[in-house]
Amino acid sequence: MHKLFVATLGVASLASVGCANANLFTVEDDIELGQQLSDEIAASPDDYPVIARADAPDAYTELERIKNSVLSSDDIVYRDEFAWELKIIDDDETLNAFAAPGGFMYVYTGLIRFLDREDDLAGVLGHEIAHADRRHSTEQLTKAYGISALIAVLLGDDPGLLAELAAGLASLQFSRTDESEADAWSVRYLCDTDYAANGAAEFFRKLDGASVPAFLSTHPNPENRVEAIDALALELGCSTEAYGEGRYQQLLDGLP
Ligand SMILES: [Zn+2]
Repeated sequence: MHKLFVATLGVASLASVGCANANLFTVEDDIELGQQLSDEIAASPDDYPVIARADAPDAYTELERIKNSVLSSDDIVYRDEFAWELKIIDDDETLNAFAAPGGFMYVYTGLIRFLDREDDLAGVLGHEIAHADRRHSTEQLTKAYGISALIAVLLGDDPGLLAELAAGLASLQFSRTDESEADAWSVRYLCDTDYAANGAAEFFRKLDGASVPAFLSTHPNPENRVEAIDALALELGCSTEAYGEGRYQQLLDGLP
């Protein structure tokens, strides 16, 4: 499928656009779009106060150890192709994490501080890794921008358009199906590690009682997500024993 896109820049594969999960972009496009978005974020410190590695080396070391554990799952399709870069955004008020295509990921200090266990952060990272690895962003872009705009990008007719698409990525909403799929992959990834496979559910459990952040308001009901995550972990026979409880403090202590 991807080979066809690479070889023909999408034109010959137009026939496949009608199907449900059409993605007109190549894997290389995912990486290029993600890199562009990452560059824009780096150039917008007022909106995205990214913490430099030099300012929190211990936090980055801990975070990367957790990230690499999740990435060790053999369910990751683009482990060798994508960047799998993870940066911390200094904003204690924001309970969020997000992933640009190509594996450029961000996690807010608000989310890190909100959680108590490595397992739970691993679950959230698994969810974000899944959005990138299953290429949800470029799938949504294909839907949002229509075929003619994307053909122009693919043919190189409109160089400005790729930058515009990268900018559009920041406000792109994933579908409920994408969210459920990312939750399910998070369980599968963590099942291959020492972490509790249902770590992603803990975020939603903890939210219970706290006000639901705006970014979740259009997402599947948190209760349903907890149930679905727990049920899948059980069905797959994965461990749900907490593994990384003791070490989480090191990550917290490493934050500025
Ligand atoms: Zn998501």
